[in-house]
Amino acid sequence: MKKKLIAGNWKMNGSLAANEALIKTLLAGLQTPACQVALCVPAIYLAQCQTLLSASSIDLGSQDVSEHELGAFTGEISSAMLREFGVRYALVGHSERRQYHLESDAAVALKAQRALAGGVTPIVCVGETLAEREAGRTEDVVRRQLAAVIHSNGHCISEIVVAYEPVWAIGTGKTATTDQAQQVHAVLRAQLNAASPLADRIQILYGGSMNAANAAQLLAQPDIDGGLVGGASLKAADFLSIIASVH
Ligand code: PEP
Repeated sequence: MKKKLIAGNWKMNGSLAANEALIKTLLAGLQTPACQVALCVPAIYLAQCQTLLSASSIDLGSQDVSEHELGAFTGEISSAMLREFGVRYALVGHSERRQYHLESDAAVALKAQRALAGGVTPIVCVGETLAEREAGRTEDVVRRQLAAVIHSNGHCISEIVVAYEPVWAIGTGKTATTDQAQQVHAVLRAQLNAASPLADRIQILYGGSMNAANAAQLLAQPDIDGGLVGGASLKAADFLSIIASVH
């Protein structure tokens, strides 16, 4: 059976001192976790976090990756560069990137492709806005977002991780109910299964105000294979308790 994955997304938070304190507290409190654990940190701190995590079971992740291989793309970071810093995962298509950086489905698909080509596992984020949910378009939206990635990644699709993150639940304290989350995860699971005979190995994470109080119930759903955790990953006790709720 595949392991669950709990990935923290620090977003644009942290400092050299705060990162060190947080990681040291996490490592001190992490017994042998029943799941995989990763931290997606701001790019400027990848080197620091690589050192801090070097002897641990926590994997390192970035929050983005360039859709290009190399060259005149000022400000971009390639998957090969990420690999040099021991990065295993890259978030792609986080809703904040789609919203503030106007990343299209096609760009997200290219980023996933480039990550895979460079040996980095993309955590492909999909999710509907509140307006889209209220218009009854949730399934259409997430299926469209995932279809772009499936289309451009072909048989490599079984190597990705997917994160369902309803946009209205991110950083708002409004979590999707377990039924709402499970329903969308089942749709994504069916879509992935139809795309590849190896799709069963793909982890589908839930993200959106996951916290110590709601994690166990969400993670008990049949198609929820882990969590992408924003705010609560910045508090060691909360993140540890989410990890501990995986059985
Ligand atoms: C996220 O940033 O991916 C996220 C899920 O944030 P939060 O847990 O704070 O809602």
